[in-house]
Amino acid sequence: MNKIGLYPGSFDPVTYGHLDLIKRGSQVFDHLYISVSNNSNKRYLFSAEERRDLLLECTKGLSNVEIIICDKLSVDLAEELQANAILRGLRAVTDFDYEMQMALTNRQLNPNVETIFMMTRKEYSFLSSSIVKEVAQYGGDISSFVPKVVEERLFSKIKSK
Ligand code: ADP
Repeated sequence: MNKIGLYPGSFDPVTYGHLDLIKRGSQVFDHLYISVSNNSNKRYLFSAEERRDLLLECTKGLSNVEIIICDKLSVDLAEELQANAILRGLRAVTDFDYEMQMALTNRQLNPNVETIFMMTRKEYSFLSSSIVKEVAQYGGDISSFVPKVVEERLFSKIKSK
């Protein structure tokens, strides 16, 4: 039986923390969908298409990874894609409360969809898209946080604002 995973997130923009999780997830699942959220209540720096395109470029080498844009509940998407599990990452304890709330809510909504957590790598435990955007805003060096293509697009996006 094929194991299908779904990794939902904002990826605004994708960081090495996300990419580490994607790589590890692609080894655990036979097929891993990454869904780029497009929640109208959230403010993103990059459009959903831009976030998807960056993910596409950064995951080129992973043949069992597929990226989609989604504006529905992750459990509904998981059901639609026949995914066995939703994959999420955990960094510090600060992630825990929110992730537990989400996982329990999702189980209530659809008990057939499991949520699986992967612990961040130590070196990425402080890394988030918001921190990267903040450092970039002030012209800081973000080369150890995101791939070159993300770095370039982030700086040009900030310049165009
Ligand atoms: P969301 O808005 O859904 O939280 P994010 O793009 O911020 O979207 O994060 C998507 C998922 O990736 C979350 O489960 C988050 O905890 C995880 N994640 C983000 N950064 C890291 C990191 N540095 N290491 C491990 N997991 C991470």
